[in-house]
Parts: sequence; structure tokens; C-alpha cells
Amino acid sequence: MNDIAQNLKHIHERVRLVQKHYNMASQPVTLVAVSKNQPADVILRAIEAGQRVFGENKVQEALKKWPRLKEQYPDIVLHLIGPLQTNKVKQAVQLFDVIETVDREKIVQALASTEVHMCKKREYYVQVNIGNEEQKAGIAIDKVDTLMSFSKEMGLNIKGMMCIPPAHEVAAPYFALLAKIAKHHCLSHVSMGMSADFESAIALGATHIRVGTAIFGERIK
Ligand SMILES: *Cc1c(COP(=O)(O)O)cnc(C)c1O
Repeated sequence: MNDIAQNLKHIHERVRLVQKHYNMASQPVTLVAVSKNQPADVILRAIEAGQRVFGENKVQEALKKWPRLKEQYPDIVLHLIGPLQTNKVKQAVQLFDVIETVDREKIVQALASTEVHMCKKREYYVQVNIGNEEQKAGIAIDKVDTLMSFSKEMGLNIKGMMCIPPAHEVAAPYFALLAKIAKHHCLSHVSMGMSADFESAIALGATHIRVGTAIFGERIK
């Protein structure tokens, strides 16, 4: 077993332990393996270990690695977890199965019209600026309702919500808040928790955890 396979196994064990501890075995948790900055041969080791759901944060970088890998492994599910510019929307809808970073009306509009042009339907999450941070991506909490209504009007399939809590703060209250907002909108998918805090995220209702370092090791920048 290679090191990545071992790391994956260890994470699945940790997920199971949290589920058991909090009596939430019936709530499925999907591990999104964050493969940003990892070359294709490293990603292949994770695929060979059975991992099928991956996350990338840059459209440009993903385009270099994933079209070939997805052709080889058609059951791979690719999530975009980084900011999306309107000029990359076509490429993003082409490549990604799930776009987790919908955070403004302009991008909703662009995604909806691209889906029509390309005859493709994708899944989307609304990214919420859960800590109300000035420079952070994501829609402000008090604007979530409006964005949700607009997305519905435009026919976009919003399945969940995603957040990146403020760094250097206890994440749990932010996780709880995102889960609450998602529930209020009857959304079944909640993407939160990374290498350092995915256990807490699961305990508070995460259905998708985004884990990079704990699988692949430190990223080479
Ligand atoms: C890089 C990244 C992750 C993974 O972070 P790790 O700490 O390496 O697990 C999760 N979510 C987003 C949005 C990221 O950019």
C-alpha cells in the first residue's frame, strides 16, 4: 500500500469514528480529495487507492491534469473549490461536475446560460462568507436568501452550501452556522472542514469534507 492509500484509509477511519461517536452513521460523508498543486502521477496513486472525488481550486490548473484522467476514469467526480471568474465559466462547466463557489448573481447568470448553450446540467453549492471577512470570497450571510431565489429563477441546481471559516479562529461556530443556513434552505449538501478540522465539521453536519494535506502531504508551491 502506498503512502497516499494509507493516508486515505486513515482519514476514512477517523470519519467513521466521529460518526460512531456522535451516532450519525446514517449521515453519509463524502471525502473530497483536494489535489491542487499535485501532479497527475501523484493524483493517480489516490485514484488507484479507490479515491474518486477530487477538488481543485484553479480552473487553469485543473484543465492541464483532469481531462485525461477523467477520460481514463469516467466515474471520477470533480469539484471546483476555488474562485470562478466569468471568463472561465465555459471551461468550468465543461470540466467540473460540481462547482462549490457560486457567490454572486453575475456568476449564476453566466453558469445558467452556459448550461443552456452546452446542454449540460451541473451541481452547484453557494459559497458563504461565513465569517463576514472583507477580503474573503463568498456571499454575505444576509444576501444568501436573494441569491438562492435568483438561482432558482435561473434554473441552477443548487445542492448545497460551502464555507471557509476565518483562519486562526475556532471553526466550530462557523460550521454550525453554515449547517443551519443550509438547512433553512432545505439543502442536503454541506461542504466544510479541511485537514485540520474535518472531524469537528462532520460533528456539526458536514456532508462533504475537503482534505488536501492530510492525504497528499504538504503542497509544493
Ligand atoms: C486547499 C483547500 C482545501 C484543503 O486544505 P488542506 O488544509 O490541505 O486540507 C480545502 N478547501 C479549499 C477551498 C482549499 O483551497
